[in-house]
Amino acid sequence: MFFLKKPFPCMYCERSYKNKSSLNRHVQYDCGKKRLLCPICQTRLLTRRSLPKHMLFVHGISTR
Ligand SMILES: [Zn+2]
Ligand SMILES: [Zn+2]
Repeated sequence: MFFLKKPFPCMYCERSYKNKSSLNRHVQYDCGKKRLLCPICQTRLLTRRSLPKHMLFVHGISTR
């Protein structure tokens, strides 16, 4: 018996999901967390929007 290929692969890692909401949840919470690291001090950031703030206040670098 063959397994159906899951139609919603994550574009950032090797995982795939059988429905879009599972994929979205993975990208936002599981996979997203791994990608949101400060490139300078490797601090894990809670959201993508907190990166410019972190860069400015912690490292004094403006990203704009
Ligand atoms: Zn992923
Ligand atoms: Zn940092």
